[in-house]
Amino acid sequence: MFIFNTMSKKKEEFIPIEKNKVKMYVCGPTVYNYFHIGNARPFLFFDVVRKYFNFLGYETVYIQNITDIDDKIITQAIEEKKDFKEITQKYIEAFYKDLTNLNITFADKNPRATEFVSEMIEIINSMINKKFAYEVNGDVYFEVKKDINYGKLSGKNLEDLQAGARIEANQQKRNPFDFTLWKKAKDGEPAWDSPWGKGRPGWHTECVVMSRSFLGETFDIHGGGMDLIFPHHENEIAQAEVMFQKPLANYWMHNGFLNIEGDKMSKSLNNFFTTRDVLKVYEADVIRFFFLSKHYRSPIDYNQGILEESKTAIARFYEVFRKYPVYEELQDTSYKLEENLDNINKQFIEAMDDDFNTAKAIACLFDLAKEVFNPQNDENSQKEAAKLLYKLGSVLGFFKDLSEKLTKNIDNKAEKLILLLLELRNQAKKDKNFALADKIRQELKAMGFELRDTANGTEWSLIK
Ligand code: AMP
Ligand code: ZN
Repeated sequence: MFIFNTMSKKKEEFIPIEKNKVKMYVCGPTVYNYFHIGNARPFLFFDVVRKYFNFLGYETVYIQNITDIDDKIITQAIEEKKDFKEITQKYIEAFYKDLTNLNITFADKNPRATEFVSEMIEIINSMINKKFAYEVNGDVYFEVKKDINYGKLSGKNLEDLQAGARIEANQQKRNPFDFTLWKKAKDGEPAWDSPWGKGRPGWHTECVVMSRSFLGETFDIHGGGMDLIFPHHENEIAQAEVMFQKPLANYWMHNGFLNIEGDKMSKSLNNFFTTRDVLKVYEADVIRFFFLSKHYRSPIDYNQGILEESKTAIARFYEVFRKYPVYEELQDTSYKLEENLDNINKQFIEAMDDDFNTAKAIACLFDLAKEVFNPQNDENSQKEAAKLLYKLGSVLGFFKDLSEKLTKNIDNKAEKLILLLLELRNQAKKDKNFALADKIRQELKAMGFELRDTANGTEWSLIK
């Protein structure tokens, strides 16, 4: 397997630290708001990374932090006139709910920053003792010039950064790029006791402490969106590597942005849609298709048109399972595959092994759908193709709760036909042609559609 490593800027063969085991850490949400559909991209993509490793037979340990103390949280708490803990609790619950609705499997652990304050104080203290950090008036900064490798992930170097920097408002820092490890609390702000007085930890330290605590000194994969390369991940590396003299992670993976009308979707630009709202219109499979039909490092445009296309595309797979509801049968496909299916299976693996090329992997799913509807294949082969589609689709997180979905949803065209029949039935009733109206009801029932006349008109549902 090859993974594009942001550190080397090339695809590298993936060699895990421990055989058959993958230890991964992905930066999680800052919980002061519902997460937007741009934030959903890393959550969804790294879920697929983990699922694919599991499919290959690797054991995975997946840690994703939750940032539950930070300036934005404090601002939101003031705005909502609530204790910051009430805010974070509310949005942590929302985070899990939205992940569930996107069919994202939770990380093995979601440690919260506030649970690790004493460990952070400890490491900050050691950084001061080793002269990598300094304290000024209750704030503590990391001194970037002490790290000769600073900038190695982002490819930025300190001189260039300084040349491009605006005059720094914070006169306390020795260098404008020194970053905050500990921030002194203002009156009334949430605060913890520390050797430097009351304050709170900076964001860049929590990931160093938590990844170390759950995954050890060096782990396999560190992930997040591209905006985290600099400064967040650069600053994580600076702290961990000056302190422990070992790489923090071996592979650095970053997803591209979800853009909207040319700009990165972000809370600060106020150009976002919450995942929660998008889920009201499009189901998880459609949203997953929307993201995974592009390579994770490419930028992706958010617009209604692409989501509608994704909806149509995913309907093709549902047609397969309507023909063969194999998801209700065995999910085990460890039998020997026929040659044509074996080839598609291999192509799927090849695509995913090539830096998680989900776009190509999805093309393989369409090839399987083609096999299902190929009249030259006998029923048994068609059914085998449907099973493989279910199995490989599940690796990408598709087809969860399929049985429920297929008894509720039906593709666009079929729905339009039913609505047309309902209209004709109404007309027949108006014309007092009850025989025809009944016939329509009976025939639809035979096909599995139940009609119900209500005060608001006639409703239809699929009979289970
Ligand atoms: P945040 O809660 O802002 O720290 O972001 C959570 C995750 O979402 C991080 O991995 C970010 O890199 C990622 N992210 C934020 N905005 C976008 C976007 N527009 N497209 C893709 N990823 C994003
Ligand atoms: Zn992080």
